[in-house]
Amino acid sequence: MKTNFKNISSIIGFALIQLSLIIFINGCFNSSETLAQKNEGKMEYQVNKSENEWKTELSQEEFDVLRNKGTERPFTGKYDHHFEDGNYKCAGCGEILFTSETKYDSGCGWPAFYYADSSKVNYIKDNTFGMVRTEVVCSNCGGHLGHVFEDGPKDKTGIRYCINSVSLKFEKDTLNNSTNKSD
Ligand code: FE
Repeated sequence: MKTNFKNISSIIGFALIQLSLIIFINGCFNSSETLAQKNEGKMEYQVNKSENEWKTELSQEEFDVLRNKGTERPFTGKYDHHFEDGNYKCAGCGEILFTSETKYDSGCGWPAFYYADSSKVNYIKDNTFGMVRTEVVCSNCGGHLGHVFEDGPKDKTGIRYCINSVSLKFEKDTLNNSTNKSD
């Protein structure tokens, strides 16, 4: 019987440690539930395609992230340290989602933006992996982009859009690079 009590105590102790860890991680990720609530009910998309159609159009990596809510490995994405002038479009439907003007280096390992037009993205409450986070998807096709956190630049919006490079397609701003500007 003594051994049983010891075992039960160990199990309870282990469970408490696990619970503490989950609460700690949740705190670190500083979720933005209000954004998710703000967009509730706004989940109709202009672009609606079958899984097979998306599979045909997207690369395997794009499909995994955009359609299956995958995440590219940190510090591996092509736009993590990309700072040219231009627009970042949805890799699924081509809609312009972010601009280079609001992109910054957050050091988190994924492209970060401090602003998104509310008509361009939808927010969904995400409780996966024992965390409470806010997922960001393209409002035109529903493609998974990444997550949003409230630890962005304080002198800007205070918001950090943490976005997969795979979900984006950069388009250079030809106007800013033009030499034919007239005064
Ligand atoms: Fe899209």
